[in-house]
Amino acid sequence: MRLLFASSEVFPLAKTGGLADVSASLPRALAALGHEVRIALPAYPAARAALVESRKLGPVPGLSGATLVGGRLPGTELPVVLVDAPALFERPGGPYGDASGRDWPDNARRFHGFARALCAIALDRAGLGWRPELVHCNDWQTGLVPALLSREAVRPATVFTIHNQAYQGLFDRAQFDALGLPDDWWAPDALEFYGGFSFLKAGLVFADQLTTVSPTYARQLLELEHGCRLDGLLRHRRADFSGILNGIDAEVWNPAADPHLASPYDRATVDAGKRANKAALQRELGLPEADKVPLLGLVGRLVEQKGIDLVVEVIEAWRDRPLQWVLLGGGEAAWERRLRALAAACPERVAVRIGYDEGLAHRIEAGADFFLMPSRFEPCGLNQMYSQRYGAIPVVHRTGGLADTVVDIFARPDPGSAATGLVFDEPTAVALAQALERGFSLYRNPAAWLALRRNAMAGDFSWRRSAEQYLGVYRRALAAGADPR
Ligand code: ADP
Repeated sequence: MRLLFASSEVFPLAKTGGLADVSASLPRALAALGHEVRIALPAYPAARAALVESRKLGPVPGLSGATLVGGRLPGTELPVVLVDAPALFERPGGPYGDASGRDWPDNARRFHGFARALCAIALDRAGLGWRPELVHCNDWQTGLVPALLSREAVRPATVFTIHNQAYQGLFDRAQFDALGLPDDWWAPDALEFYGGFSFLKAGLVFADQLTTVSPTYARQLLELEHGCRLDGLLRHRRADFSGILNGIDAEVWNPAADPHLASPYDRATVDAGKRANKAALQRELGLPEADKVPLLGLVGRLVEQKGIDLVVEVIEAWRDRPLQWVLLGGGEAAWERRLRALAAACPERVAVRIGYDEGLAHRIEAGADFFLMPSRFEPCGLNQMYSQRYGAIPVVHRTGGLADTVVDIFARPDPGSAATGLVFDEPTAVALAQALERGFSLYRNPAAWLALRRNAMAGDFSWRRSAEQYLGVYRRALAAGADPR
């Protein structure tokens, strides 16, 4: 199959979260299964700089000042096309906002431009001499692609994947008019959404097939409580909607060959390996080198979705207990301040690093005994899978992909069988604390703890199975297409 994979972030060219990891590793898995995949993303300055074998291609017809840049994804053979539209993407800051995290005011225009360039590629109107059979669109930034393509008599099939339904690409009527979108799209069965319009909804209405990133999140999105006001639409499209669990890149996240670690290790050497990495992490972060003290790690965006408030509540309640907390993240300024204050108040117990640090994220997985993910909702979540691979026991709220990837020690009383972590039912500090207490009692039993760690490390989260499921979805999308491609 010839596939165009469209995403606003692709690791290591641009990354704010899990979408970037998926956008690199799923295409790779598809290519390994023999398919012809090209990845397209905006030419942010950092992406341009990191692209391998970069070369200028032709202009994008109809998008003034935009050209395409070809190259390869670093560390892979995967072809990448960057949409180089300086007025839209050549600026400092992140993919969606400035350095302080404020969204760019012209995001509708930016990702409308991206979508138009993607359509030009998809229809082979941008001089690539290559015509995909299917375009796989990801999250709201690519939501207009299935809508724009739906107006073409001959077009590739489209699949739209929801990586996080909470981010909807919502804009107002003035922006709708400014983009010059077709009038008939301002309707409740098209893009209109509670007085404004939504890029995400465009994807959900117009793509041939819809997916999201775990079976449990797919079920939750059909419910009023989790559907973010799109549950009705998804129920309507239920027959075309499925949940496919993300995999992980087992090469990037491999404790046995991780360049970020001073002491690589595997399942057989996990005990000594994690001890060495824990000591190194304690040194790196200025915490006392204490082998027996449980070390709890967290890496993620500091937003309410991730349950960071629950973690802070437990840290504060357990101020006097012999525990070490290591937190790495960035996000809302109020949480950044709060965490910094916590670390300043308890320097022996709490280490906080604000910002994005890929290497430290790996070293936390390697050094931590427990890994915290008390997310209120979690479409899939990657860190709980990384942590299992690194023998850091995940402590998670039973929601979305967390429910699908972590087996609680109580679900299987014998940790020698299948348990891989601790799962709690309510997103509250009390429930998190109770789960941790259960974990600490295992931690004090070295044989049981080692068995649990080894079990967690034995899990198979590779992409192959998921990639095969995506191929099934692609075939359904192709079968649904009305035109010969
Ligand atoms: P989400 O996509 O909602 O942010 P995921 O768990 O799916 O959450 O993926 C998050 C990814 O981003 C993981 O690879 C995680 O290690 C990484 N990450 C998040 N914040 C940071 C940070 N501050 N430094 C390094 N890596 C981070």
